[in-house]
Amino acid sequence: MADDSKSILSMPVRSRGERVTVLADSLGRDSIVISQGCRLCGFTRFEIVGEWDRHGDPLRTVACWRCGLVSHAQIPNAEELRKFYEQEYRSAYNGEEVPSPKRIVREWDRARHRFESMRPYLRDGDRVFEIGAGAGCNLKQFQLAGYRVEGIEPGPGFSQFAREQLHCPVECKTLEQVGGTGEYDVALLIHVLEHLPEPRQALGRIRQLLRPGGRLYVEVPNLAAPHAAPGKMFHKAHIHNFTPWSLAALASATGFEVAKVFSRERDRNLAMCLSCGSSARLQYDPDGYFRTKSALERYSTLRYHCRPQYVATRVSEVAQEVRRRWQMQKSYAEILRICQGTTCNPVRCESLRAAA
Ligand SMILES: [Zn+2]
Repeated sequence: MADDSKSILSMPVRSRGERVTVLADSLGRDSIVISQGCRLCGFTRFEIVGEWDRHGDPLRTVACWRCGLVSHAQIPNAEELRKFYEQEYRSAYNGEEVPSPKRIVREWDRARHRFESMRPYLRDGDRVFEIGAGAGCNLKQFQLAGYRVEGIEPGPGFSQFAREQLHCPVECKTLEQVGGTGEYDVALLIHVLEHLPEPRQALGRIRQLLRPGGRLYVEVPNLAAPHAAPGKMFHKAHIHNFTPWSLAALASATGFEVAKVFSRERDRNLAMCLSCGSSARLQYDPDGYFRTKSALERYSTLRYHCRPQYVATRVSEVAQEVRRRWQMQKSYAEILRICQGTTCNPVRCESLRAAA
């Protein structure tokens, strides 16, 4: 680290005029100071845990020394984010302007599993709101089961698809453009939180949108499980990377309690049902940083690919993909047929859902 320290000391942080400084504690661990602080606990000392993104482009990633939250060293501002999504995101990460049939068939399958997970936590008459609703596949499951639904999605092609093809009420909006408080009983936040520069602020706002007794289904990539080979874990679009303990800490800081963890420890995605608590007070795992470090260092590239779990998952994924491709046109047409002219009559829609 000594050689690296020199280069870090002399390296101005991009675009903000800030400089990073290397410090070492009594255990000899090196940390850097970032004056903006951790977006969860506010601490300003971090350890560098990555210098590259999954494509081999420079991306400095750090872990907070206090709570263990992993994030970009430089959290982009609104203008930088806008440029990234306009100029880089779609070409670098296979983004689509409008959802392909393949995406819809895949998302529909996943959405059905999510709905089944949440079913025990739903009550008759619940009003459901999805933030970052994409093409509307998740929200549509709730609508088909008879719940009142609304969603927002910043991508115009996706929100239009949700409205026109799935007949699902998704508006082209961001969370900042949503007014009101205590409007909804259930919120869905699926693969959105990791993209946000201020996750604590966003979750706090979603807490305000929920009524007392409200519930939130949240899903993010699971940094604590081996979801990618070492060196391919970090993603420019994922500003924050969550573990079960950092997500639980974020929930506590924003007035939520963990009602249920749906995912298993080894699952690539972390899925939880959070319920509205009585107060907001940050409670983080004091060992969070060490647990995060240990999860990140668990595998070498060779050991990652040789795990029986990796081989089994890949085989299962390939089999699923072959099945989806084989049946894709038929499945896609069937999804559109189910959604065509749908109403929220629970009995009729339940039978349609089961037939899908
Ligand atoms: Zn922190």
